[in-house]
Amino acid sequence: VTRQDAERLDAADPLAAFRERFVLPVGVIYLDGNSLGALPRETARRVAEVVNAEWGQDLIKSWNLHGWIDLPRRVGAKIARLVGAEPNEVLVADSTSVNLFKLLAGALRLQKGRPVILSEANNFPTDLYIAQGLIELLGGGYELRTVPRDQVLEALDARVAVLMLTQVDYRSGALWDLAAVTERAHAVGALVLWDLAHSAGALPVDLNGAGADLAVGCGYKYLNGGPGAPAFLYAARRLQEKLRTPLSGWLGHAAPFAFEPEYRPGAGIDRFLCGTPPILSLAALECGVDLTLQADLTLVRKKSLALGELFLDCVQGAVPEFALASPVDPNQRGSQVSLRHPEGYAIVQALIARGVIGDFRAPDVLRFGFAPLYTRYVDVWEAVTILAEIMATRAWDQPEYRVRRTVT
Ligand SMILES: *Cc1c(COP(=O)(O)O)cnc(C)c1O
Repeated sequence: VTRQDAERLDAADPLAAFRERFVLPVGVIYLDGNSLGALPRETARRVAEVVNAEWGQDLIKSWNLHGWIDLPRRVGAKIARLVGAEPNEVLVADSTSVNLFKLLAGALRLQKGRPVILSEANNFPTDLYIAQGLIELLGGGYELRTVPRDQVLEALDARVAVLMLTQVDYRSGALWDLAAVTERAHAVGALVLWDLAHSAGALPVDLNGAGADLAVGCGYKYLNGGPGAPAFLYAARRLQEKLRTPLSGWLGHAAPFAFEPEYRPGAGIDRFLCGTPPILSLAALECGVDLTLQADLTLVRKKSLALGELFLDCVQGAVPEFALASPVDPNQRGSQVSLRHPEGYAIVQALIARGVIGDFRAPDVLRFGFAPLYTRYVDVWEAVTILAEIMATRAWDQPEYRVRRTVT
């Protein structure tokens, strides 16, 4: 594969114009949009406007005047279009971890008599930790059962209250068939709680089409909402009135400004609000979501797969010593390709020093994410060329690249 091949692909890319809509540092090849999405140009302008005009000048009037109070629903309704849901089925609130807690607790309450939360042993740790904390809070009687990926479906039985899975595995990028798994879980009476952290904005998701029950997802990954952007949650319309959240905060009350002493859950999805939403972060997230809504997710998926294939072709040609940590079949991958190498951590640090930003996931995984709205084919080509240089010169083999930082 030559640089010209990559340039030809960029020239024919129907999504190429989106790159201009982002601020991207010069001299950096950013392959970590799956961890923190890039900054849309519009975001800086919009956040400054919210700060200066809305907060600075209109102060508390802005809750009504500028619709701050409706932002969690408004941005939720926009995200709903990206994940195949109705506008009143998605809400922006809290973090992914907190939303997992709220929905998992709600689901267990609905599924009385079923003691098992089933998940995958390799699921993202926060998902497992939240389930563990909830079970402890409930005082026993429940069990988190984790099994290897290839045993999840056979572990479904009448004791399972909720099957909790991440659609795209954070480490390998392996993709679950959302509709097929949901159907299998429903066949034994289990609910499914999907974590869409690495799906939303990266590939078409059809929650309603799959008959999905519950889902959560991140605002700061492929939705480009900014560091610590609030997360979203989805609850199917048919379940909403039956679900209760243990985080019964005042903004999830049926009448927050009636200041009643007793909690009454708000209508529908509104009950999953807890406290006052972070308006500055929501304004930033809305910019990222608006930008994503302008793209055709079918084209996004197509480009994502093509970027992944180009990456693998380059790797196989230039650095065959890396083992593939992702599924070989592109249709079984999300928008990332992961490689495996015993010196993975140091190699990733050496790449970052050369301006190629991917990340490392313990124990030995080098993760490269492709954000089709701003990643070019030529970026992928160049990243692998630099990786090959680092391997050939052993540039990674330096003590400073072995120092583990807090965030990997
Ligand atoms: C990134 C990620 C999260 C992050 O949760 P936060 O509460 O936003 O920190 C959760 N689950 C998965 C699968 C993730 O990849």
